[in-house]
Amino acid sequence: MMKVLGGLKKGLVFVVSAPAGTGKTTLVQMLCKEFDCVVESVSFTTRKPRPNEREGKDYHFISAAEFEKKIKEGEFLEHAKVFNHYYGTSLLFVEREQARGKHVVLVIDTQGAMKLMGGFPATFIFISPPSMKELKKRLMARRSETEEAMEERLSWAEKEMSLAPRYDYHIINEDLKVAYEVLRSILIAVEHKNH
Ligand code: 5GP
Repeated sequence: MMKVLGGLKKGLVFVVSAPAGTGKTTLVQMLCKEFDCVVESVSFTTRKPRPNEREGKDYHFISAAEFEKKIKEGEFLEHAKVFNHYYGTSLLFVEREQARGKHVVLVIDTQGAMKLMGGFPATFIFISPPSMKELKKRLMARRSETEEAMEERLSWAEKEMSLAPRYDYHIINEDLKVAYEVLRSILIAVEHKNH
């Protein structure tokens, strides 16, 4: 059967950045669920797993020493320190999935995205909350942060949001259904672009 997405021999890379609490995880999960040809990159991190997270599915959880070794050995497509922990994208994972014809979505912070904008071929998408007020409300509803951690996340979110104009696309997630429609349309359009 003909499909709207998944027609390339080699998959493309989509970089998604969004402050915590913007619904990026949900949006990317919806994409992977709808399209077999879309996979989310599994990053390495030195932060501790949260109760609902699983090794190898959400992240590969490793020590700082192991992470630094991987940096030295050139295993990361990009890496950055976010809230005092290392996060990095596995070059091998991305290349292997692309070679299988999968579009790879990297959900990474603005520092990592800026590095890739320097020359890596990808489509850059920024997702923001409708307002800072709404973001604060969403983070509070989550209750996974201490007051101090939340303040830190909010001020970092403001900084990240100021970089949105540098991305190829900017989606404001006011309504999940609408935001998803825009996101899937971007992937469909980019796959059909003449490169
Ligand atoms: P969290 O700890 O909430 O899962 O992620 C914190 C931040 O790190 C988020 O902005 C997330 O997108 C970002 N992040 C996750 N994996 C990577 C990665 O491999 N590289 C970079 N640069 N950022 C990442």
